[in-house]
Amino acid sequence: MKPLSLYIHVPFCASKCAYCDFASWPNRDGAWRRYFEALWRELERWRERLRGHEAATVFFGGGTPTLVDTPYIAETLERARAVVPFAQNVEITLEGNPGTLTPEKLAAYRKVGVNRLSLGAQSFDDGLLKSLGRIHTAAQVGEAVAMAREAGFKNLNLDLMYGLPGQAMDQWQRTLDAAAALGVEHISAYSLIVEDGTPMAARVASGEAVIPDDDAVNAMQRAAVDRLARAGYGRYEISNYARPGRECRHNLVYWLRGDYLGLGCAAHSLFEGRRFHSPVGLEDYLAGGGAEEVQELTEADAREETVMLATRTARGLDLADWQARFGVPFERGREAALARLEAGGLVERRDGFLQLTLRGLELHNAVVLELLGDE
Ligand code: SF4
Repeated sequence: MKPLSLYIHVPFCASKCAYCDFASWPNRDGAWRRYFEALWRELERWRERLRGHEAATVFFGGGTPTLVDTPYIAETLERARAVVPFAQNVEITLEGNPGTLTPEKLAAYRKVGVNRLSLGAQSFDDGLLKSLGRIHTAAQVGEAVAMAREAGFKNLNLDLMYGLPGQAMDQWQRTLDAAAALGVEHISAYSLIVEDGTPMAARVASGEAVIPDDDAVNAMQRAAVDRLARAGYGRYEISNYARPGRECRHNLVYWLRGDYLGLGCAAHSLFEGRRFHSPVGLEDYLAGGGAEEVQELTEADAREETVMLATRTARGLDLADWQARFGVPFERGREAALARLEAGGLVERRDGFLQLTLRGLELHNAVVLELLGDE
């Protein structure tokens, strides 16, 4: 059986956060049924192509998958299992907003096999949460974690954000400590990206909101590395930290370029050497469903993606695997670039892997460009 990861996009939210440009819409409760019926039809269309595959991971992302009625999640899992068998140790993650959880919902998720919850906490500062347009308070994050434990969840993630307008270092440190104190297994810490067209971008453009400069953002990233390491979380990807053995297996598939199939609007896939995605707009997806913008990956594309993605991970780029896949040593033609990057303390070669240092990860894009050279 070939391993496959399934991503299922649930594009509904209670309201729109100020920084968000994801494919997600508030006030569309009336579209839930039509949406899931379209998604189930899309799933069915894959039945033949998925023969010989086994789902190693399933990830409900969004949007806010915990907003919709639980039978939609249950039926999607049931239908997915009927199309592609799930591995015995399948990791099934559901993303959720702490303001949308109840004990009844959590019990229902457990019952249908969800074994990992990823909660969008973002901050433990109520003022910052409000300015981001989040619908929950810091206290509700703690309550959600307690409820999830009560329901039997043993694998929890909290998403956090730094580099926020008005965020001081001590606020960020308190958020990191509060997240770790809840004892979750995994923490993702993302730097705010101000996306065009969002209310946040308008506030920044008008001067109403001022984002911290690059030095301050790098200092916050370093604070995450240090504080979370002291609390027992290893950094295994630029933005991701886990207790030993609790790395997100689904996200590792993205970084290591395994096969994954995205279902639902705006969902991306990498399947059998092709990248494609579904229509981004909700109505476009409901009208037609299927994937668009197929990109057949050349070997040069595969090399470029491997450099970009594997170097995000602490494990790094597997040099023997590179030689086996592409037929040439990674170092060939890159000797000068590698020497410069090593001398600058940005990369290291260790135990057959090329790894970026702490500083190298801060300058990830520049390091990748140097490594790709004339690719
Ligand atoms: S809850 Fe998540 S997906 Fe929904 S609007 Fe906020 S950031 Fe976007």
